[in-house]
Amino acid sequence: MEQAQSLEPVGAGLQISPNGVKVLEALNVMEALEGALFEPLAIEMRLGSSGRRFVELPLGKSGVERWGVRYIHIHRADLVDGLLDALVDCKSCEIRTGNRLLGYEIKDDGVVVTLADGTRLKADLLIGADGLRSTVRTQMLGEETPRFTGNVAWRALASRDRLGDLAPPPTACIWTGKGKHAVTTYVHGGDTVNFIGIFEQIDWREEGWSLPGSREEAKLNFGDMNATIAKIIETADGFNRWALFDRAPLPRWSDGPVVLIGDAAHPMLPSLAQGAVQAIEDAYALAVELDRSQSAAEAGQRLYQRRIKRTAQIQKQAAGNARMFHRRSFYAQLLTYGPMALASAVSPSFIQSRYDWLFGAELEERS
Ligand SMILES: Cc1cc2nc3c(=O)[nH]c(=O)nc-3n(C[C@H](O)[C@H](O)[C@H](O)COP(=O)(O)OP(=O)(O)OC[C@H]3O[C@@H](n4cnc5c(N)ncnc54)[C@H](O)[C@@H]3O)c2cc1C
Repeated sequence: MEQAQSLEPVGAGLQISPNGVKVLEALNVMEALEGALFEPLAIEMRLGSSGRRFVELPLGKSGVERWGVRYIHIHRADLVDGLLDALVDCKSCEIRTGNRLLGYEIKDDGVVVTLADGTRLKADLLIGADGLRSTVRTQMLGEETPRFTGNVAWRALASRDRLGDLAPPPTACIWTGKGKHAVTTYVHGGDTVNFIGIFEQIDWREEGWSLPGSREEAKLNFGDMNATIAKIIETADGFNRWALFDRAPLPRWSDGPVVLIGDAAHPMLPSLAQGAVQAIEDAYALAVELDRSQSAAEAGQRLYQRRIKRTAQIQKQAAGNARMFHRRSFYAQLLTYGPMALASAVSPSFIQSRYDWLFGAELEERS
């Protein structure tokens, strides 16, 4: 059930690290994504002002050797298409759009949901994958406004051809700045650059949490960065701004046969590129727990016990990354980035090893 009229993806590029790609492989989705995905050579950190690289975390062949599968970039629309393709042969699957879930009632033998058009549906299990402002979460745990993180995200797409020599490197590139950072990735098989800019802002007073932005405003926020970022802003097609919110880890993710996954359960800053990947991991882990449990309620509880520590750690690290990318003074930058640069130059495999817990997570076999 989806409230939007059609499955139009919101936003643009996604980085899917090996821990997410393993699930997509297990679901046989990767083949459908092949033409649209991009394989970055590395994750890099560069000084936003000069463009000078100071950290390189190799991906490519050595990443596959280390974590088992690739690290990919993909446009959300291409990922959604790939997932829909995988459902084509599923005779019992139905996707309904243009209808909003209003609430649920737990019964002795399952759960009944009420939709905005008045329909009531009975099910054995309700999965609340309804995002940051989850209706299911609100009913389960009460009204609680998510926290504004003090960061606003800008997103835009730019044609690589139009960037010429100023196209960003073929990597996942983080460009640090004072109270801001930018990230460049590639989508559409490498033809399009996906730009994300994160800018610190004291509060968010505007109506709504996702708004169109103008080129001029983007220039005001990121115009002091290097020529590559300036060229992307000059040539990009359209800009959107998003207020970024998160929540502290929740005390539970389930209420009988009603289970939360994804941003509904653990919203996080995008600075570790894990929000969608963790939603994908949740979905697979829930399937494993359903195979093993006597009831949907038991599976929901087991999912939480198994996943809460990892997702809380990822939420924390994502917030920490944003602060680390935004060092303002020269000395703070030197103290933070200096040791990282040294470690990266001396031992790329040490830098890789810092991500083993995240990228190297093994998938459990489904029974
Ligand atoms: C700038 C930016 C960059 C990002 N980059 C990455 C990245 O590179 N890699 C990564 O892994 N993650 C990334 N993320 C995070 C990622 O976008 C989210 O974590 C992910 O979309 C969460 O998926 P979800 O399905 O849980 O929620 P959502 O994507 O929010 O989907 C929830 C869906 O539920 C629907 N819905 C809501 N309420 C109802 C209702 N009552 N009834 C019916 N339908 C409803 C909504 O319309 C929506 O379609 C990024 C986020 C941002 C902001």
